[in-house]
Amino acid sequence: MRLSSSGRGLFSLLVVLATSNVLVARVQQGMVADNPTDLLRIGDKVIKINEAISMVQGFGNTFMVTTEEGNVIIDTSIAMHAGKHHQLLTAENKGPIKYIILTHAHGDHTGGVPLWKQAGTQIIAQKNHVEFVHYQTRLSGFYGKRNAAQFGLSVPPQRPWAGNYGGKIEPTILFDDKYEFTLGGVKFEVYRTPGETYDHATVWIPKYKAAFTGDNYYESFPNIYTLRGTEPRWALDYVNSLNKVLEFKPEIALPSHGRPINGNPEITRRLTRYRDAIQYVHDAVVKGLNDGKDVYTLMNEIKLPAALDIGESYGNLIWSIRGIYEGYVGWFDLNPATIYERPASSVYPEVVKLAGGPDAIAALAAQRVETGDAVAALHLTNIALTADPRHRRALEARLRALEILRSRCKNTNERGWLDYSIKVTTEMLDQKK
Ligand SMILES: [Zn+2]
Repeated sequence: MRLSSSGRGLFSLLVVLATSNVLVARVQQGMVADNPTDLLRIGDKVIKINEAISMVQGFGNTFMVTTEEGNVIIDTSIAMHAGKHHQLLTAENKGPIKYIILTHAHGDHTGGVPLWKQAGTQIIAQKNHVEFVHYQTRLSGFYGKRNAAQFGLSVPPQRPWAGNYGGKIEPTILFDDKYEFTLGGVKFEVYRTPGETYDHATVWIPKYKAAFTGDNYYESFPNIYTLRGTEPRWALDYVNSLNKVLEFKPEIALPSHGRPINGNPEITRRLTRYRDAIQYVHDAVVKGLNDGKDVYTLMNEIKLPAALDIGESYGNLIWSIRGIYEGYVGWFDLNPATIYERPASSVYPEVVKLAGGPDAIAALAAQRVETGDAVAALHLTNIALTADPRHRRALEARLRALEILRSRCKNTNERGWLDYSIKVTTEMLDQKK
């Protein structure tokens, strides 16, 4: 999952997150209780996986592998959870931290690096980590605003642009396809497994038959496109990387969000189904592209067969379909008007005038709210509010439409953006008083 990046942009965001009363309150209230990925829940105890592997759950999880020559940390959670994870795991075993392995550079995996790093600790990441950190830092202003919106935070102060290559690179060991080392007689293998990110890695410990799968598997359809904004996440990368994990025949799978999976039959069942769901959607989009179908047709048409329904509490099918479609071919939709720099909304005020003014459009939007078509109401209020951004009846219809969508919503990311839109609309209405 992605909350932010490493580097300076990450640090400033995490400071904001760590001090956000809003987010802390949401965590304490268990507002994500229906999310199987336990998104924001802070673990309060160490879970012993076996004699050597321990973990604490959080957003995301932190894992510790103990050996006779020192310990290895795999992922370090988000900064606001990392302190608790560090305290709990250190109480379990005070051995020196010889290695930190990062499954990828998202901030909910790198946030605890400063806490765990000791003199002489080696930090391992896949070599694309470097560009990924620079990319996040390059866009730190953009992501600062998007994170604030999605997670209900205040926008962090914008720092001066750090340039194209201004990220802080923590790893001391960068590998291409595979890196392995032995510590205290335990062999660790780290493989490049792109999926959620292009710097993604999986850790395999043959002695314990344990695979640390990062964010390439969690208990929901993956976030192949995230509303926060992302470069394309390649569906076939997920498929190939999940196949690589299955080839290990693990007896323990340890995702960086959610709970461990025990036993090879159950791991195989879940990862195979997950892989097949992604492959199914990918192939349906590719077929649709080749058949000349537009993206909205495919967002409506493609449904997972019941046997592959892996839930949509975090990732979502329709955004992923669009993510795959536009990842392959970009934004041009054969509509010649979109070749030019003038958006459709530039003619909305004329349409509103022809319709008799924003009152008429707002009334139609209110009607659509009544008949339960909240999305149509959002489109209509977009038109009315383009002509008159403070039109009260349009804002009221919009707020009701958003609240209806919010009441039906079962997806964490969708909920974040609906809450944000409700806040913005309410503020607009309050300004009129
Ligand atoms: Zn994550």
